[in-house]
Amino acid sequence: MSARRRLLTVHYNMWSMEQRIVGFHQDEHGDWVADLACGHGQHVRHQPPLTNRPWVFTEEGRTQHLGQVLNCKKCEGQE
Ligand SMILES: [Zn+2]
Repeated sequence: MSARRRLLTVHYNMWSMEQRIVGFHQDEHGDWVADLACGHGQHVRHQPPLTNRPWVFTEEGRTQHLGQVLNCKKCEGQE
C-alpha cells in the first residue's frame, strides 16, 4: 500500500512541472517570455479575456511576478 502511494506521488510530480520565474525577456516578435528555473522559457502573453496579464508590460509588474511558479509545458513534454 505504501509503495503504491509513493509511486502515485512520483507520477503526480512528473505531470506537475511547476518552475519558478527567474527572469523575463522579449522574443523576436516583442512578446514577453518568462525565464523559468528549469532553463526553459514560456510566453506570458496578454490575451484577454482568456489570458489577462497586463502586468507583463511594466517593469514593476514583471518584478512582482519574479519567483512565482508556472507550469512548464516543455518539461511536461507538451511543447
Ligand atoms: Zn521546463
